[in-house]
Amino acid sequence: MEEPIKRLLLLQETDRKLDRVKADMEAIPRELQVHRREIEEHRLRFRGVEEALESNRAGQEALKAEQQELRSRVAEYRTRLLSIKTNDEYRAMLKQIDYALGKVDDMDTALLEAMEAEDEARAEVEKAGRELERYERRYEARKEMLEGKAAQLETELSALEAEREVVASSIDVRYYRKYRQARRSGRPEIVVGLRGGACGGCLTNVPPQNGVDIKGGNTFLCPMCGSFVVWTEDSSLAGGR
Ligand SMILES: [Zn+2]
Repeated sequence: MEEPIKRLLLLQETDRKLDRVKADMEAIPRELQVHRREIEEHRLRFRGVEEALESNRAGQEALKAEQQELRSRVAEYRTRLLSIKTNDEYRAMLKQIDYALGKVDDMDTALLEAMEAEDEARAEVEKAGRELERYERRYEARKEMLEGKAAQLETELSALEAEREVVASSIDVRYYRKYRQARRSGRPEIVVGLRGGACGGCLTNVPPQNGVDIKGGNTFLCPMCGSFVVWTEDSSLAGGR
C-alpha cells in the first residue's frame, strides 16, 4: 500500500475507534435515564397502592363512626319506647329500631370485607416497596459500573485524540481535505478494500487489470464513489481470488 494511503487508512481507523468511544460515552447517560424512568414508574406504583391502603383505612374509620352513630340512635329510640303511649307509635318505633339494627349488621359485613381488602392492600404495598427497593439497588450498582466505564472511556478518548492528532498531521493536506469532506457528507470511509473484485465503498466492479494492480500494492481511485480502493486483509479479486 502506498504510504500516504496507509496513513489515511490509519486516520480512518483511529476515527472509527473515536466514533465508537464517543457513541459508548453518549449511551451511558441515556441508559441511566432509562433506569431512572423505571424507578419513577415503580415509585408511582408504590404510592398508588399506598394511597389505596390509606383510603381503605379511612373508609373503615368512616364506617365505624357511622355505625357508632346508628348504635346511639338505637339506644335513643329504645329510651323513647318507654314513654310511648299508643300501640301504633310503639310499632313504628320498633320498626325504626329494626331498620337501624339491620343497617348496623350490613356495616359489619362491609367492615369485614374492607378488612380483607386491607390485608390484600398491605401485601400489595409491601410487594411494591420491595420491587422499588430492588430497582433502586440495581440502579445504584449499574450507575457505579457505568461511572467506572465512563472514566475508562474518557481515558481512551484522550489517548485516541492525541493519536489522531499525530496521524492527521502526517497526512497530505489534499488527502486530508478529501477525507474530511467525505466524513462531513456522512461517509466514514474513503479508503476501502477491494471486495470480490469490486470497490468496497460502492460495490462497482473494478476492471480486472486494476484489480491485479491493487493486489500488487497500488491504489485505485474509484470513478463511481471517489474511494481509494486498496488491498486489505479481507480483500479478494473477482471470483474470490
Ligand atoms: Zn466506489
